[in-house]
Amino acid sequence: MAENQHRAWSAVELKKIGVPSQQRCHRRQTRGSKAQPVAPIPPQQPAYKTVAKAAVPVKDHQQPVADFVHSAHTIEMPRKSGRFNSAEAHPCTFYTEPTMSSQTPTRIRTHSQALQQRAERFFPGGVNSPVRAFRAVGGAPPFIESAQDAWLTDADGNRYIDYFGSWGPMILGHAFPPVVEAIQRAARNSASFGASAAAEADLAERIVACYPAIEKLRFVSSGTEATMSAIRLARAATGRTIVVKFEGCYHGHSDGLLVKAGSGVATLGIPGSAGVPEEIAGLTLALPYNDLAAVEAAFAARPGAIAAVIVEPIVGNAGCIPPAPGYLAGLRAITAREGALLIVDEVMTGFRVALGGALELYGIDADLVTLGKIVGGGLPVGVFGGKRVFMDLLAPLGPVYQAGTLSGNPLAMAAGIATLSYLQDHAAEVYPQLEATAKAVFEGVAAEAAHAGVPLTLNRVGAMGTWFFTSGPVTNYDQAAQSDTAAFGRFHRAMLDLGVWLPPSQFEAAFLSTAHGEEEVAATIAAARKAFKAVVAK
Ligand code: PLP
Repeated sequence: MAENQHRAWSAVELKKIGVPSQQRCHRRQTRGSKAQPVAPIPPQQPAYKTVAKAAVPVKDHQQPVADFVHSAHTIEMPRKSGRFNSAEAHPCTFYTEPTMSSQTPTRIRTHSQALQQRAERFFPGGVNSPVRAFRAVGGAPPFIESAQDAWLTDADGNRYIDYFGSWGPMILGHAFPPVVEAIQRAARNSASFGASAAAEADLAERIVACYPAIEKLRFVSSGTEATMSAIRLARAATGRTIVVKFEGCYHGHSDGLLVKAGSGVATLGIPGSAGVPEEIAGLTLALPYNDLAAVEAAFAARPGAIAAVIVEPIVGNAGCIPPAPGYLAGLRAITAREGALLIVDEVMTGFRVALGGALELYGIDADLVTLGKIVGGGLPVGVFGGKRVFMDLLAPLGPVYQAGTLSGNPLAMAAGIATLSYLQDHAAEVYPQLEATAKAVFEGVAAEAAHAGVPLTLNRVGAMGTWFFTSGPVTNYDQAAQSDTAAFGRFHRAMLDLGVWLPPSQFEAAFLSTAHGEEEVAATIAAARKAFKAVVAK
């Protein structure tokens, strides 16, 4: 058979990927009906002849998977309202399932499995960001079809309470109407101009109002860009090269910041990253978090060489680790004394732990601040900003070059303005509500662990937190790494099966949104009660 030629998918092949006979039947009907014909996937056309030899051709056995996936998408999935406080009750099947075990998933995920197979054909590991893979917890990730409020719905119609919130941005829940409307309105005026528009300063005004440390700022398209640019600025401002970061902190994937990083780097147990030259990695000094003596010693050993200290003010990327009392103030004092810049990376904590982020919560000043996630309301936005004297070093005013085709993108600005204006207008209710809901769910689950005899340490600041599977305490990355990650994996799989989607790594914080309410809290605690039994039973 010629490559990519269309052919029927045999029952044996369908069975192999776990497609039940009922769905196989449906697929045949769909193909015979008026459904769109599936276009044969063209052979890959490598851009350069030199790459052609190395390129993996599309194999004809992959076509049926794409074929099935297409027809699967024509199946109308049952949809239920996921609105918080909705009068329309949705059955909480996740905790009424009679028995469950981490080894025998009770949820059918055949469509997700097929989608994963197709994704693996295009994307390394089937994902566009490694933290989305389930390597650390086992099992295959469900594919999301839609999300509303605190709920995710997968391609098979399963519903889950969402505790990762797109890794932080969705503080108002999914498809929050003012955000959706703002994006729709903006889109009608074009998705991108590549020229200045008023919305950029509208969003900047809101950010500056909450962050006294930010006098001027630049919008970029990701947190990675924000921290990378802040580091460049710090080096230019000081004429120094060394950057201090902390073990387990993640500041995006720019070369120098991957040294002893958290998030996916910690999850996959990678000490740094291949492809980062030693010369670059050598300019980063990774110190233990919450240890001011280590910072003092580093400055003493390298007088006049350290350009900046960059810190997650509350670590989220090794799991949640709050700063010890006086730690951030100590970093501020040491950097000020030594003529180095303090870069506070609030990509995760900004607008989450307070309107003014961790800087407001702990009463700290910074030279440069980085933001992301919530400021984009779910669209790709990063920010770096700070003291005017540093920011004015940027081109076109100064000699530090930094740019971006989509920086200040109008759709992203619109989503950010809608999100921040809601948070600002409702701060008096939003943050106490987040605190109360988060306290109830984090402590409720921890109480279930205690009841089941599972050693657990709970770290939480507002609506972000982590259940570490260790007796603790957890004040730095080394202690976080003592966690029983296998037990966490069992817990994760069991919770997922019961309809609760936690971040798929022990080394990632869980997040709540304003859409999480009493119903979600009760369901999560009930699921945890069962899941801890699975953890203990193994
Ligand atoms: N800084 C922190 C604290 C983060 O948590 C992240 C991402 O999770 C980044 C930077 C990188 O942001 P992005 O993934 O948007 O590049």
